[in-house]
Amino acid sequence: MTKAVLALNAGSSSLKFALFRIDPTDTPASPSHRIASGEVEGIGTHPHFRAKDASGKVLIDESWDAHAGGPDAHHGPMATLMEWVGEHLGGVELMGVGHRVVHGGPDFIRPVRITPDVLAALSALTPFAPLHQPGSLAPARALMAQRPDLPQVACFDTAFHHTMPAVAQAQALPRSYAEKGVRRYGFHGLSYEYIANCLRERAPRLAAGRCIVAHVGSGASLCALREGHSIDTTMGFSVLDGLMMGTRCGHLDPGVILYMLKEEGLGAAEVETVLYHHSGLLGMSGVSNDMRDLHARAAHDPAVSAALDLFVYRFVQEAGMMAASLQGLDGLVFTAGIGENDAIVRAAICARLQWLGVRLDEAANTANSEIISTSDSTVEVRVIPTDEETTIRRHVMMCLA
Ligand code: ADP
Repeated sequence: MTKAVLALNAGSSSLKFALFRIDPTDTPASPSHRIASGEVEGIGTHPHFRAKDASGKVLIDESWDAHAGGPDAHHGPMATLMEWVGEHLGGVELMGVGHRVVHGGPDFIRPVRITPDVLAALSALTPFAPLHQPGSLAPARALMAQRPDLPQVACFDTAFHHTMPAVAQAQALPRSYAEKGVRRYGFHGLSYEYIANCLRERAPRLAAGRCIVAHVGSGASLCALREGHSIDTTMGFSVLDGLMMGTRCGHLDPGVILYMLKEEGLGAAEVETVLYHHSGLLGMSGVSNDMRDLHARAAHDPAVSAALDLFVYRFVQEAGMMAASLQGLDGLVFTAGIGENDAIVRAAICARLQWLGVRLDEAANTANSEIISTSDSTVEVRVIPTDEETTIRRHVMMCLA
């Protein structure tokens, strides 16, 4: 009988999903067959449920009034989604559900079947990712109550980076912090794992060599891949570190936080709001965190062009750090919303990476081609769309095998 896997990616107010058909001969490494994908947005306020099939045909597009919010905010959407999946699947059997979970802490270094004990252990990691972990776990908790028989798998954003050497995981703090788990973890691992697998198939030279993968979306980070394994990354203990992002600051002198606390009298929650939601492109430009808006305004608004300049400058600095960790560079891969679509930002970054051997093919870049470097570029530059849901499907199949 044909089976299916549901991949879920829950944010604080949205639940994205993808449904995959699993044929009897499929293995975790087989190409994925997407039946449908979509999202429930506006959870807790005005939910909007949209789904399309693999050809882009709209399967559902509905809004409804939210029930009460709070910790149970995901029960409603999860039940709605499962009901729709049940109707939509017809005779196809759901074999398992995979969840993107932001933080696996020091112990969860591979995907794991979710049990009540695992859920409790993952909840205990909330202090490491207070804004993201509860949202990642809510759908799993809701589904465990609704369908205790259905196998569920947690797939971690941190796990791909467990191959980083100890020196890249360390922070120069008193040893007691590392003992409490306060160290560098890295994130976007499901995306990096997908890209590492693509490179193995499409670009064996890069897969076997030294590559920087740039996941540049509303959140952004770089991963230093050596022979397909993460040896360093720009996000660290939290998703605040490294690159400048849409609304997050990226790398920041910790002295600034002390200034906010001591001189401005801000509380921890206010500092958190500034660093996560009011900084980055939005904070500096004062108008938007969306690259499309910013490009449209850059010529007339000096604050916008300063924000774009810093975005590129910080990327190039962090890329230099990753190249140092790799001791050289063979490839650079752009992925996620900005990485896949923004030829202007890619061109500005590549111009500043010429010292590393990057030569951009401008026509290929403008066309969003897969290879955007010239044939004499010593660093091959690619654009590869990411697919975190396909990594989740793979993890579910591995766990249930
Ligand atoms: P997330 O999944 O984290 O929400 P995405 O990877 O979808 O983020 O990236 C979202 C960002 O990508 C948007 O905020 C926008 O800045 C950028 N983006 C999307 N499409 C384009 C485009 N065509 N040109 C430039 N930037 C784009």
